[in-house]
Amino acid sequence: MNFLTNLLPQTIQPPRVTNQGRRAEIKSPQELDTMRQAARIVATVLKEIAAMVEPGMTTADLDAYAERRIREMGATPSFKGYHGFPASICACLNNEVVHGIPTKRKVIRRGDLLKVDTGAYFQGFHGDSCITIAVGEVSPAAAKLMQVAEAALYEGIAQVKAGNYLMDIAGAIEDYVKANGFKVVEDYTGHGVGRNLHEEPSVFNHRNRELPNVKLQAGMTLAIEPIVNAGSKHTRVLADRWTVVTVDRSLSAQFEHTVLVTETGYEILTDRTKV
Ligand code: MG
Ligand code: MG
Repeated sequence: MNFLTNLLPQTIQPPRVTNQGRRAEIKSPQELDTMRQAARIVATVLKEIAAMVEPGMTTADLDAYAERRIREMGATPSFKGYHGFPASICACLNNEVVHGIPTKRKVIRRGDLLKVDTGAYFQGFHGDSCITIAVGEVSPAAAKLMQVAEAALYEGIAQVKAGNYLMDIAGAIEDYVKANGFKVVEDYTGHGVGRNLHEEPSVFNHRNRELPNVKLQAGMTLAIEPIVNAGSKHTRVLADRWTVVTVDRSLSAQFEHTVLVTETGYEILTDRTKV
């Protein structure tokens, strides 16, 4: 889930920065231990969902599973009730970009590109992560889009280090996506994450001159979440006021991690390979 639409669900414009210039909160080692646990719960749920998705399931099935597992692990779903969002995951299929509402009416089919985004709130802190899942065999074009979206996230993460700037992350993502012939969605950004699901700063994914280019400091925790479209970068919001789709019905893919800034680099708190 991202910062912008939740505040302005039908208005595609740069996020309104209410506390302009404020840096992300620096977490203490103790707070980071709690955040690691919150993020680990998110990573666990996404890893399990990736393994269990099968054609014929509905996005509501995945939502019910995620909510149950988040609660079993002692956390609460970050998204449920957030600005009125009714579920524990955002589930988006194919041309859906972000903020898809899970429903029994959406049956997952072989060949779909499925995006699952979830968050967990544990002892005062949130973790937030998103994956794209290929359901069975997908088209070569869909497979490439997915691979580029994931690699773009890691290109951005590679720039995370105390002393670097948000623009270093954004530039790396933008250049990588462009070099692979796809488009970065500009309407949505990542965000600081911690005590609140969405905090300053807005972690933009392209060379954006309108948002504060914050210098990274050790102890900041950021949700980095580029969205990559196969066709137009432009999106629109459906009548449900949540679901965002590509304007040209082209495919969209997204990966997100909650990442800690360290003096020498980064730590991926939602790393699924460690759960
Ligand atoms: Mg998210
Ligand atoms: Mg997020």
